[in-house]
Amino acid sequence: MYTRLGQNFLVDKNIAKKIAKSADILSSDTVIEIGPGKGILTEVLSQTSKKIIAVEIDRKLAEELIEKYRNQTNIKIVNADFLKYNPPKKLKLKFVANLPYYISSAIIEKILHLNNWDTAVFMIQKEVADRIIAPPGSCDYSVLSIACQIFCSVEKTFNVPGTCFHPKPEVTSTVVKLKRLKNPLIKKNEEKKFFKILKSAFLHRRKTILNSLCLSLHKDKKNLEEKILESGISPLCRAETISIEGFVKLAKVLT
Ligand code: SAM
Repeated sequence: MYTRLGQNFLVDKNIAKKIAKSADILSSDTVIEIGPGKGILTEVLSQTSKKIIAVEIDRKLAEELIEKYRNQTNIKIVNADFLKYNPPKKLKLKFVANLPYYISSAIIEKILHLNNWDTAVFMIQKEVADRIIAPPGSCDYSVLSIACQIFCSVEKTFNVPGTCFHPKPEVTSTVVKLKRLKNPLIKKNEEKKFFKILKSAFLHRRKTILNSLCLSLHKDKKNLEEKILESGISPLCRAETISIEGFVKLAKVLT
């Protein structure tokens, strides 16, 4: 059960305080916590925020938290899978969590497509944090790096050793801070096309961008080559060397 739901509970309260501090929470803020577990972070977050909505998939843990916080009006516990949960649309939100590592990328991808938040502070596996902040040319540069950096400024804040959890995880943990850009590099109506091109480009990351897109998009090679050149990119380079601005231009010229 522990492994299946990523249940490595934080036991060091100072780390919980440090995570909450990184989120710059104001007394007017509504915070969504994903996977509150036994509530170590929930409690700290509730001391500074207006309201905390904590979404926990495990029914038993959720029931225990509902009972524990039944007199604390600014804490709402929701027993749900965050991937199926619709956060409130009309409030400006912050997200804070010690994420379940088995779905951390899926959770981050989900929040990136929401508009009504400004800050997300997540404890995640160090390798995922490295991918989030990776620049072009690095071996960690991936769809996740670009997806995060196209919508947010990204920052690694601190590492957390396995000894701060019970049970101790096999991996090193890192806290990352995402601040949503006021003007993301793509518009809402361009997102679908942009991510289709991006995912196609990285599907065969060892191949040239021309061959990778040709294989994934099933388009005429000559035409594709002209379009890639038109966007200012060499058809012979690999996806992992193309800047975010390069991908934005590429998505614009490809129809
Ligand atoms: N926040 C607690 C802490 O720091 O000790 C628990 C963190 S633990 C790494 C991850 C938590 O996420 C667990 O309580 C687990 O049950 C919960 N969880 C796992 N998958 C989830 C999902 N899809 N939606 C919501 N919560 C989930």
